[in-house]
Amino acid sequence: MAFKLADAASWMSFGVAAAASVLLAAARASRPARAVVGARKWHTRSTYLPKLQRIVAAGPAHLQLLFDFDRTCTTYESESAYGVIEEGQPQEFRDAARRMYEYYHAIEVDPHMSIAEKIPHMKEWYERAHELFVAGRVAEGTIKKAADIAKVRLRPEFVEILALAEPANVPVVIFSAGIANVIEELLRKYLPGGRVPSNVHVVSNRMVFAPDGELSGWDADLIHMYNKNESHLRGSAIHSELCARRNVVLAGDSTGDATMADGLPHETVLKVGIVNTKPDVYLHRYLELYDAAIVDADGMQPLLDVVRAVLAAPAPTAATQAPG
Ligand SMILES: [Mg+2]
Repeated sequence: MAFKLADAASWMSFGVAAAASVLLAAARASRPARAVVGARKWHTRSTYLPKLQRIVAAGPAHLQLLFDFDRTCTTYESESAYGVIEEGQPQEFRDAARRMYEYYHAIEVDPHMSIAEKIPHMKEWYERAHELFVAGRVAEGTIKKAADIAKVRLRPEFVEILALAEPANVPVVIFSAGIANVIEELLRKYLPGGRVPSNVHVVSNRMVFAPDGELSGWDADLIHMYNKNESHLRGSAIHSELCARRNVVLAGDSTGDATMADGLPHETVLKVGIVNTKPDVYLHRYLELYDAAIVDADGMQPLLDVVRAVLAAPAPTAATQAPG
């Protein structure tokens, strides 16, 4: 891990205390990640520090935050967005959903199949599940009732990140293979003030309801675990704003989340993976896909530190501005 004192000296010249503390913490954490998993919650690889430096130097005006939702913004023990709705459905519905899960999840995690081989099955899973929801006549009013009793907890640092990002006008894209309507309801329920901030954009599968409040179908743009990338945002209202923000801090808890920023032209994408469980098994893989990894089922303090560091950065001078 190539952190040098010279890097620290040039970095300090920015005079950003928050950034400096993050970098020093990173230097301490930058020992070889595979050596000891132990109780350490923050692991980085050599790509982390230079990317963070570039993003801090460009400042908040060039920042976009891109988060997966289930078990990234929420804790590991939380129900998924689909689970929140399924929980309140009749036994027949839940049995059908469970049978689908047992069949398709085995394919999702099959170590002998490539992603390309899995994709048609995952697409079929989502299509069949969406048909089940329509056949089950899920009502619009169900979402609020289900959110009220949902076993879901937002990570406290995620709530804090949103509170910091809104006044800084930093767009936050929540990109999920779950259900947009449910995620928005959960945010309204659990965020202080009971509202989704205007800089937060939920990009996910969206239920469409008939005038009588009964589910009539789903938005045509299907997002599953292996096609989550920002090409879905082309043509959306926030597309041009996101294109103008060249740097991304991305966070996700699945291997497929590491490529969420693909599809839009970004300069630097700092990827933080969340290892919710079995770090002895998964941490090594996550540090191949992500620049840093948080081993924590309930929190994301290092990510909050990164966001604070970027938001505390002064506007770049001409000398520190990247060309173009
Ligand atoms: Mg997730």
